Amino acid sequence: MMQRMEPALLRELAEMLRAGGIEDAELEAKWICEDMPDAEAARETARRRAKHEPLQYLLGAWEFYGLRIEVGQGVLIPRADTETLVEAALDRLKQTASPRIMDLCTGSGCIALALKSQMPDADVTGIEKSAEAMKFAEKNRSALGLDITLVPGDVLQAETAAAFTGLDCIVSNPPYLTADDMAHLQQEVTYEPASALDGGADGLHFYREITRLWRDALKPGGLLAFEIGCTQGADAAEILRQNDFEQIAVLRDLNGNERVVLGIHR
Ligand code: GLN
Repeated sequence: MMQRMEPALLRELAEMLRAGGIEDAELEAKWICEDMPDAEAARETARRRAKHEPLQYLLGAWEFYGLRIEVGQGVLIPRADTETLVEAALDRLKQTASPRIMDLCTGSGCIALALKSQMPDADVTGIEKSAEAMKFAEKNRSALGLDITLVPGDVLQAETAAAFTGLDCIVSNPPYLTADDMAHLQQEVTYEPASALDGGADGLHFYREITRLWRDALKPGGLLAFEIGCTQGADAAEILRQNDFEQIAVLRDLNGNERVVLGIHR
C-alpha cells in the first residue's frame, strides 16, 4: 500500500482511465493508488484497467457483506445485488436454530461465508464445479477463518443432490444470463467465467434443474432462495410453483429490481 498519495500520480492515473472510457476514473484511480505498493505498479494496473479488465481482478479482492473476498480470473466477482439473497435467507432463518444450509454454485464462497459470518451456529456447505473457483473459495474460507464445508461437485447431477437430505435452506446464485445476454456482455464481464454466467438459451436452465433435483434435499418447511435476473421473477416463481413450493415471493434489490425468488418446500 502506498504511504502517500501523490496528487500528480492520481491525476495521471485518472487521465489514463478516462482516456480508456472508464466512468468513475477519479474514484478508481484513488482505489488503485491506495492498493498498489508503488507508482509503477499503480500505472501498470491503470493501463490494464483502461482496457476494461475488471478492477476487482486487478485489485485481487472485493468487499461483499462486509467481508474481504479474494477474486481473480476464473471466479465470478461478488456483486452488491447478491447481498439481497443473503439478507433474504438471514431474515427467513431467524427462528431456526443451527440451520443446515447449502449454497449451490458457491464460486468465491461469498454467499456461504456471509451467511456463516452472521449465523455462527449454522452448518453451511458450498458446492462448486469449477476447480479454479474452488481455489478462491478455499482461500477465502481460511483467510476469513469461517468454518464452512466446501464440496466439489456439479449441482446439475442427480447424484450430487441425492447425497443431501434434511436441509433447512438452499441458496443459489446460479448462472442466469440468456443466450442474448451472453452475446452482449459488458466488456468487463467477458473476463469472468462463462460457466458462471450462462444460464442456457432462456437463462432459466439452472432454476428448472436445481428446483427439480434439489427439492427433496430440503426438509418440509425448508427454504429455497435463488438470485434471479431482473426480468426473471415471474418465470422463476412459476418453476417453484410447478415443483410444489408454497409462500413463493419475489424480492427486489436496493435498485428496485427483482433480484430474489424464494419459496417453502411443502
Ligand atoms: N449478475 C451477473 C451479471 O449480471 C450475473 C450473475 C449470474 O449469472 N449469476 O453479470
